[in-house]
Amino acid sequence: MVRPDYDQFTCNLCGNASGVSHDFHREGGACSHCGSNMRYRALMRALSQHLYDKPLPLSAFIPDKNFKVMGLSDASLYADKLATLYDYTNFFYHTEPFLDICNIENMISGSYDLLITSDVFEHVPPPRHIAFVNSWHLLKPGGLLLLTVPYTLLPKTVEHFPSLHHFGFVNDGTDILLVNRREDQTIEVFDKLIWHGGEGSTLEMRVYSETDLIQIISAAGFKEIKIWNEDFPENGILQSHQGGSFVITATKDDNSAPIEITHNDPYRENIYPEDMCINHFLVHRPTRVSGTRAERAIELWNTNTPQHKTALPVFTRIWLYIRRKLNG
Ligand SMILES: [Zn+2]
Repeated sequence: MVRPDYDQFTCNLCGNASGVSHDFHREGGACSHCGSNMRYRALMRALSQHLYDKPLPLSAFIPDKNFKVMGLSDASLYADKLATLYDYTNFFYHTEPFLDICNIENMISGSYDLLITSDVFEHVPPPRHIAFVNSWHLLKPGGLLLLTVPYTLLPKTVEHFPSLHHFGFVNDGTDILLVNRREDQTIEVFDKLIWHGGEGSTLEMRVYSETDLIQIISAAGFKEIKIWNEDFPENGILQSHQGGSFVITATKDDNSAPIEITHNDPYRENIYPEDMCINHFLVHRPTRVSGTRAERAIELWNTNTPQHKTALPVFTRIWLYIRRKLNG
């Protein structure tokens, strides 16, 4: 890891000076006062630059209760402050106020000035463009998408379950397995699932590539796409070495209609073949299970799962399932 060449930084979330941390990676570099990590500081720094054209600490952001903001599972470290400044609602996919970004039929289009989605869109089920197109719909003309997802600078995205259709999870005593009935009715079983920390359903569905992301954001009707990859050591933001996963901002282009929502992935050529070995520190692929272990998992799934899709959005189903399992 890069050794910072300064003694202290000023946290742009809490405004306090913090000693240098030696774990300057995206989820590290904790502020010794509020505990903010580098990702949160980079996110708020980019927001300040966009809104005010200068790097204000969060405490100096200008209150405006007519400025309507949607957060998707935002961290309370900055969400609580944003709620005092703006007309801000933090939505969740496992609790109230509830929102599934892939299903926004109950929401009013064109009503938000800002949509913050930090490390959420790597968890949405395929096809991955739906979340971006829906973000466009929710924003006002000129509204801002403030986004982070873990991503690489590889040419293509690693999509873990490209044929995900009707799926669920079973615990076979060794691990939690994913069982998926594809649209063609064949069933596939996966082991070595990647879960991210935090509440709610945090199954990693993919590791994006920057090229794929930019293409999807652009085709979803956004312009002025900016990648915030600079270092700001004064705010404890040392990210240029991390090779991707930077904050991205984009504004809603009202003159451009987004690509249609389809259930087929329009960007299939942006995905690596499943059997291709990808050597990258962010990429850990789930593995296919076959033989008797797969048969047993399918049997468990058939026994435990109602065979008709419920009205509950998919993430709620996953979360309820995991919570049941955790509670024994
Ligand atoms: Zn702080």
